[in-house]
Amino acid sequence: MKFLDEAKVYIRSGDGGNGCVAFRREKFIEFGGPSGGNGGKGGDVLIEAVDGLNTLIDYRYQQHFKAQKGVHGMGKDRHGANGKDIVLKVPVGTQVFDEDRETLLFDFTDLGQKFIITEGGNGGFGNAHFKSSTNRAPRNANPGQPGEERWIWLRLKLIADAGLVGLPNAGKSTFLAASSAAKPKIADYPFTTLHPQLGVVSIDGREFVLADIPGLIEGAHEGAGLGDRFLGHVERCRALLHLVDGTCEHAGKAYKTVRTELEAYDHGLSDKTEIVALNKADALSPEELKQQLARLKRAAKKTPLVISAATGQGVEDALRALLAVVGDASRTPKAKNAAEAAPWSPLRANSE
Ligand code: GDP
Ligand code: MG
Repeated sequence: MKFLDEAKVYIRSGDGGNGCVAFRREKFIEFGGPSGGNGGKGGDVLIEAVDGLNTLIDYRYQQHFKAQKGVHGMGKDRHGANGKDIVLKVPVGTQVFDEDRETLLFDFTDLGQKFIITEGGNGGFGNAHFKSSTNRAPRNANPGQPGEERWIWLRLKLIADAGLVGLPNAGKSTFLAASSAAKPKIADYPFTTLHPQLGVVSIDGREFVLADIPGLIEGAHEGAGLGDRFLGHVERCRALLHLVDGTCEHAGKAYKTVRTELEAYDHGLSDKTEIVALNKADALSPEELKQQLARLKRAAKKTPLVISAATGQGVEDALRALLAVVGDASRTPKAKNAAEAAPWSPLRANSE
């Protein structure tokens, strides 16, 4: 399963400074030669993979990045200063695509990698540069070369190995919080109402990524906005942990409601290996527990785990059960090679 963070960004490298036409004008020097300096080079636009970033959220707020222009050359053989580069900082795992959203320009697989995405324009030569034995007083200078502008896409893949499903209030968020060793910050984007929560789960010395997908129910299979898009990603994960609230009226019915949704969405989602767990065991009397468990078992046609996300009871067992399914998918390095990544696009994933 992959969650994506995407941003479209405008970049422009700096224009080169113009070369200058000037001549020495000094007392006692009768025929001052050409003295126009060269223009400075425009700043480059670079992208760098840095530590401490988990999302591309910054690029939602600032989308335009321009490197500085080179300074024009000046008289007295003074060269213009080079424009300052601008560096866009991204998390490792970010891929840079061309405006078409498909052509991969760069894949950041390691920390500290840097990539010049657009070079600044060269500065123009001043007339001093054109001085030769046959042309001692050149009156020409080059203009600086313009910088380049373009739009690019930044894309970050967050790959989850297992997903949490269940009715609202089943305890998905609580479970994720209780089981996550580390929580990558998935920013609460103001422009989305639905966003996944990811957690890195550590169990028996292994790690995998678990995702809580709010809004899975609520008619997501009918194509209701973002929920549908997330379901598209959910299709790619290997296992589902289906949490059922033990304090609900009928655990078997709650289970079936969710299964109906999964099946309505189809696309193989309902065929995924499902671990079923009755949650909130701590809030149930032994009799209630027994009854709900029996209902859930009948509905799911398998013996559910009994857990309490709140107290941690049974949480490790549930994680082990997931790990057994997720197995070898767990925690390979985040960055995948370009060939694997390129054919995938969120647009296509939606229409699959
Ligand atoms: P979600 O909608 O599936 O994400 O459910 P939440 O994790 O937000 O939990 C819904 C409510 O159930 C919250 O008030 C939780 O504190 C509570 N809750 C979750 N797990 C447990 C549990 O194991 N025991 C008890 N007693 N309450 C729980
Ligand atoms: Mg929740």
